[in-house]
Amino acid sequence: MPDMIAVERALDLVLEAARPLPPIVADLADLPGRILLEEIRADRDVPSWDKSLMDGFAVAAADLGRGKEVAIAATIAAGADPGALAALPPGQAARIMTGAPLPRGADAVIPVERSRAGSQPDRTALQGPVRPGENVARRGDDVREGAVLLEPGDFLGAAEIAVLAACGRIRARAGGRPRVAVLATGDELVPPGEEPGPGRLRNSNGPMLEALARRAGAEVRDLGIARDDEEDLRRAIASGLDADVLLLSGGVSMGLYDLVGGALRSAGAEVLFERVAIRPGKPFTFARRGGTLVFGCPGNPVSSYVIFQVFARPALRRLASHPTPVWRMQPGRLASPIRQKPGRAGYVQARAVFRDGRLDVEPVPTSGSADLVSCARGNALAIVPAEAASLPAGSDVAVILLDDHGDR
Ligand code: AMP
Ligand code: MG
Repeated sequence: MPDMIAVERALDLVLEAARPLPPIVADLADLPGRILLEEIRADRDVPSWDKSLMDGFAVAAADLGRGKEVAIAATIAAGADPGALAALPPGQAARIMTGAPLPRGADAVIPVERSRAGSQPDRTALQGPVRPGENVARRGDDVREGAVLLEPGDFLGAAEIAVLAACGRIRARAGGRPRVAVLATGDELVPPGEEPGPGRLRNSNGPMLEALARRAGAEVRDLGIARDDEEDLRRAIASGLDADVLLLSGGVSMGLYDLVGGALRSAGAEVLFERVAIRPGKPFTFARRGGTLVFGCPGNPVSSYVIFQVFARPALRRLASHPTPVWRMQPGRLASPIRQKPGRAGYVQARAVFRDGRLDVEPVPTSGSADLVSCARGNALAIVPAEAASLPAGSDVAVILLDDHGDR
């Protein structure tokens, strides 16, 4: 029987094998979800001119006192050329729109809500006082030209994409997007769209692993279902070995028809380990061939789910050049006790909720590693150290807050 290795050791081996993919220069539309691999500096001051932050009237604050009726000298819209604006005559106001440049001679804006119609159409009654600078952004207030806005290692979410666009960066150097192939194995499986016959069940691991891989930023290809037959398995595995990562489910335990280990070896893969001291997920098999990493997840749905989260997700993030590929553990407080047989680290489906400034962690009731609904009900994994037989209610517990449950 192959040696069982600790979770930490297994994760080290996985991360060692997961080398960052070659960086690419990607278009803006292809950058979301990637890791930025260059420094981005502001190409200009933002705002690039003194501008109004409100729709209203530009004035010289000192002119206005507690308020008075003044002549409207001009109307200035967003997009007006700051250099071409006439100076504001003393004692007058310019009608101005949000984002429009402030004319010389003005230093504040009275919002339109603090104005009334004047005695003539070209006059307005303004309510003072107003401080110099009120409702005005000065050139460079937000960002100075040359300032570092984004750094190598930054995750490119929506706000970062906006920063790139604002700097005119329609291309940037970024980490690769891992290509993942997903293969479910098992004679009992039918595609999810089919009615399972007697003794059959729907392939739920395939779509689950696809969804998890996509969520982790990968590009995914579905290889469907392979039979528990050496030849069929070898062929299906071979077709997935051109991906960066092959995610397999099933066929890695000790049953007569658990043929994945053998099929991997005969496809020329090097098996790095086949048993990990984790519950659920002990028969997790990890292999590589050339640059391809193979995660042989146990068929039990909760096992596949846990193995993906604990091992495959960090590997995908490392391939994508993520600076912190491994989950950050959060300190939590256990709401009800967890018991386990010592010897393997427990990764327990749980619901974690911030309450009064701390993370309360409630294990999800489950009937075992086939109970995939427990994954859907949880939003976290509570970690029980391998040597512990129990964690009482109220004890500190390390938690992984999973990111694929929205805000629950
Ligand atoms: P195995 O690891 O192949 O021995 O499978 C363990 C258990 O997980 C068995 O009860 C399988 O029927 C179930 N299982 C295997 N693959 C899948 C899958 N793709 N979707 C849902 N259940 C599965
Ligand atoms: Mg099987």
